Amino acid sequence: MKKFVSNNPKELKKIAKDLAGNLMSRSRLDMGGGALVLALVGDLGSGKTTFARAFAEGLGVKEKIKSPTFIIFRKSNIKNKNFLYFYHFDVYRINSEKEILNLGWKEIISNPENIVLAEWADKIEKILPKNCIKINFKHLKGDKREMEID
Ligand code: ADP
Ligand code: MG
Repeated sequence: MKKFVSNNPKELKKIAKDLAGNLMSRSRLDMGGGALVLALVGDLGSGKTTFARAFAEGLGVKEKIKSPTFIIFRKSNIKNKNFLYFYHFDVYRINSEKEILNLGWKEIISNPENIVLAEWADKIEKILPKNCIKINFKHLKGDKREMEID
């Protein structure tokens, strides 16, 4: 378990970019055959989207990442020797896991060429892969945010 505290958005973005760089250089084989899945949990305003955008930037995703608030997920290309696609999910509005399963979730998370990030991942806890990277976000005082990665 690693804990990071950021004092402003810039610091949190740096953490996200560094993590993207580290994870991308990992071999796909380390992921147990499936996608690399990041499960983001935390209250509104705790920094999940800020993290997701900087993480995408760190992956080298070119297009402007709009928050997928109204579209559930967005797929982008990654130019990397290990990974081809980045999926950014925001499952805040779903009522059941079934809605995500119907979007081809199982295929998405079983493809080792994918990096998948889900905001509000506690809503789809039951269908997350066992080896996903869980990140808990907390809103501390003012602009302070805590991130706990397990
Ligand atoms: P979430 O997706 O968890 O709802 P957002 O990333 O959309 O959160 O929003 C975080 C808000 O908090 C943004 O308005 C951002 O500018 C602000 N903020 C202030 N300090 C920080 C920090 N240290 N890290 C991330 N965001 C911060
Ligand atoms: Mg968000």
